[in-house]
Amino acid sequence: MLQQTKVDQVVGFYKRFLDHFPNVFDLASASEQEVLKCWQGLGYYSRARNIHRTAKIVSNDLGGVFPGSYDALLDLPGIGDYTASAIASIAFGRCNAVVDGNVYRVLSRFFGIEVPIDTGAGRKYFKELAEELIDESDPANYNQAIMEFGAVQCLPRNPNCTSCPLVSACCAHKHGDVLKLPVKEKKVAVRNRYFLYLVVKTEDGFFIRQRSSNDVWAKMFDFPLVELDSRPIKKEIFNIVSGQLNWPMAIANVVKMNKHILSHQHIYAWFAEVVCSTGFDTSDWINVRDIAQLEQYPFPRLVEKYLECTCFLGNGQVVGG
Ligand code: SF4
Repeated sequence: MLQQTKVDQVVGFYKRFLDHFPNVFDLASASEQEVLKCWQGLGYYSRARNIHRTAKIVSNDLGGVFPGSYDALLDLPGIGDYTASAIASIAFGRCNAVVDGNVYRVLSRFFGIEVPIDTGAGRKYFKELAEELIDESDPANYNQAIMEFGAVQCLPRNPNCTSCPLVSACCAHKHGDVLKLPVKEKKVAVRNRYFLYLVVKTEDGFFIRQRSSNDVWAKMFDFPLVELDSRPIKKEIFNIVSGQLNWPMAIANVVKMNKHILSHQHIYAWFAEVVCSTGFDTSDWINVRDIAQLEQYPFPRLVEKYLECTCFLGNGQVVGG
C-alpha cells in the first residue's frame, strides 16, 4: 500500500483491509472483485491485484509462509527492488538497502551526486552507494530512518536546511545546489484524456460495465464510456450521446467533474445522465437494479466522486425513467 502513497493516506485502508482479510488464506480465497472493492479509493489498483496473486502463491505453494530473503521476495508479483529490500530488512532484519524517492533525494544532495536517478546506470549507482552505507547491525532502523529523513527534513521543495543536523557536511547546501538535486534525465509526459460517461437509466435500472485489463483502473467498474480526442462543447455532447444510443432518449443533465490526476494521465470527465424508455440488449453492459446493488462493485475514485454528488440514480432505489 505504501508504494507511491504516503503513510497517513494509507492507515485507514490498511486497517480496513486487515479487518476484511485477517490472514493470507482469507486473502487468497477472496475474489478479485472483493479485493478491489476493499482497495477502492487507494488508487494504483495493480497493487491490489498483485497482493492478491501473491497471497495465492504464499497460501497455495509456500504453505502460508512468507519468504524472507530479498531474492525470493523478488519472485513474487508486484515486488521489485524497493519493496523486496523494505520487507527483507524491516520484517526479517536482512541487510538490504532501500532506495526510494526519499533516499535518492537525501543521498544526491548530501554527496552532491548529479547522476540522473531515472536511468539504469543511476539506479545501480545509488543502490550500490546505499548498500555501502547501510548499518549492518540494524538495517531495519537505518532504512526507515533515511526514508523518514527525506520525508520530514530533506523535503523536495522546502528542505529544512537551517535546522538540519547534516548541514555542515552537505555538498548540495555548500554549493547552493539543493533544489537542483536529484537530477532526472527525462520529463514524464502527461497524457490528457477526455471521458464522456453515459449514465443510462431505464425502467429496469441502470448500467455499468467492467473495464478492460489493459488500461487504467483495469478490471474495475465504471459506466459505459466514449473516449474523445478533445474537450467536448455542450452541443456536441448531445450528438455524441444520441449517436451512441439508438433508442429514444433524453439527456437530463451533464455533470462535469474536476480534473482527475493520475501519475501520468490527467482525466477530464463528463457524466451525461440519460433517461431512456426502453431496455438494452448489450453484451458487456451490466444491468443494476438499484443504487444499493452498486455496493458490491469496485469503482475508481473518479466514479465514486460522481456517485457521491449525483441524485440521478436515486437514493436507495432507481427512479423509473
Ligand atoms: S542540509 Fe538541506 S539539503 Fe542537505 S541534507 Fe540537510 S535538509 Fe537535505
